[in-house]
Amino acid sequence: MKAPYRLKLIIKRTDPDIPKSWYQTYELEAGRILRFTDLFRKINQDLDPTLAWNSSCEHAQCGSCSVKINGRPMLACELLVETAVARFGTTRFVIEPINIAPVVRDLVVDFEQAYERVHRVKPYIIQPAQNPNDSSQYMVSPRELERYVEATRCINCFCCASACISSHRGFLGPNAVMASAVRILDPREDATAERLKLLYSDEGVYRCHTSRACSHVCPKEIDVAHFIGLIKAGAFQTEDN
Ligand code: SF4
Ligand code: SF4
Repeated sequence: MKAPYRLKLIIKRTDPDIPKSWYQTYELEAGRILRFTDLFRKINQDLDPTLAWNSSCEHAQCGSCSVKINGRPMLACELLVETAVARFGTTRFVIEPINIAPVVRDLVVDFEQAYERVHRVKPYIIQPAQNPNDSSQYMVSPRELERYVEATRCINCFCCASACISSHRGFLGPNAVMASAVRILDPREDATAERLKLLYSDEGVYRCHTSRACSHVCPKEIDVAHFIGLIKAGAFQTEDN
């Protein structure tokens, strides 16, 4: 059996009651296939029960455990110790909350506030299109679905928004823009004009610098910048909208 790693985790702590932030170092031994959420749990059990962090499904499906590890937004439940050591070439990890909303405590951020930007784009069908088929169900063809199915893997982990420098400067943010682009591509939606109005507003796509950091960090390997690029290129503009 391979020897465990000796890790140094330098975690950004925040106590909102003081209020104060500081970096605290934890040294621990860990097996190679432990995940970073396991490390946080180990810290709680063996070293410091006061460290606050967030997770829910721990299967990379809910997006609640996003943190920055050595500056890169990632899902803590998905990252194995051996993968992290290989990727960053070190056993020393600086772990910080993702910077998309105020910190509640330590690694926990206010997701309700982060979701406000997603809610602003109405990530659901606003105005149902007329069903072209004589059926109670609207059948989306495989060809139509192919245009946006990739984006339906989004779990709103906000890793892309955390990596995007523009999302801290009045931009709706990559995942919110993509959520609206998906509904425009969805043939069941008729509210394209209403959607484009927001996407071409001051907080819309022209805030994006096409750096592609969003696509680079997405744990679901979605090319987020591609969907933003479609809007920027005017792919959905018609005389009516
Ligand atoms: S697009 Fe990717 S990085 Fe952005 S919120 Fe969705 S899953 Fe997370
Ligand atoms: S490509 Fe645009 S949305 Fe994506 S990270 Fe860069 S500025 Fe943000």
